[in-house]
Amino acid sequence: MSHVFVPPAPASVPVAASADSFPVHRIYCVGRNYVEHAKEMGFTGREPPFFFLKPADAVLAVAEGETGRMPYPSLTKSLHHEVELVVAIGTGGRDIKAADAMKHVWGYAVGLDMTRRDLQGEAKKLGRPWDIGKGFDHSAPIGPIYRASDCTVNGDTRITLEVNGVIRQQSTIGKLIWDLGEVIEHLSAAWELAPGDLIFSGTPEGVAAVEPGDTLRASVDGVGSLQVQIVAR
Ligand code: MN
Repeated sequence: MSHVFVPPAPASVPVAASADSFPVHRIYCVGRNYVEHAKEMGFTGREPPFFFLKPADAVLAVAEGETGRMPYPSLTKSLHHEVELVVAIGTGGRDIKAADAMKHVWGYAVGLDMTRRDLQGEAKKLGRPWDIGKGFDHSAPIGPIYRASDCTVNGDTRITLEVNGVIRQQSTIGKLIWDLGEVIEHLSAAWELAPGDLIFSGTPEGVAAVEPGDTLRASVDGVGSLQVQIVAR
């Protein structure tokens, strides 16, 4: 039996300092996982983590030292940046305990959970799904994936986003409400994780709009960086 058309190549992300690539299975994102960002979105406190997904082919992979080009998406007047530490899963599983979670992590990358904030806001107000605000084409720019053994990620690890050289977002990984192990525990209770899954772990405060021509530089100390320019469609 053959396919009725040629299936598209799987989405993939380059592995740092290597000719290899990391094939993407699913993209999970954690909502409101930094206290100050939860506050700026109108929430307080430690609510249980919640998740949404982006399609795997929403990745906009940007190689080391390159500047990715993200087309300004349709239908929005408010394209927001959210810088996030991305966890790349190498070993899948269900009901993974936080204490065992790091064994499932293949590596890390810096990502941007780009958001059509006006459409997300409308969806929230109407009780509709977030997909149109979060899961659009090119909505997941991501830098190269670094092997976990080559990264230093701890509570003091700094996460930063600059737009045109000006810092817009800056925090530390220690300010995550649910740490990476806890995120994997909650996520794997709801879905069976598989090799190739990417987890966008949440964004700190300072989310704001970008326009065509803006250059975003996202970085996580000890992991890497990602540069993207927003271009007119
Ligand atoms: Mn996010």
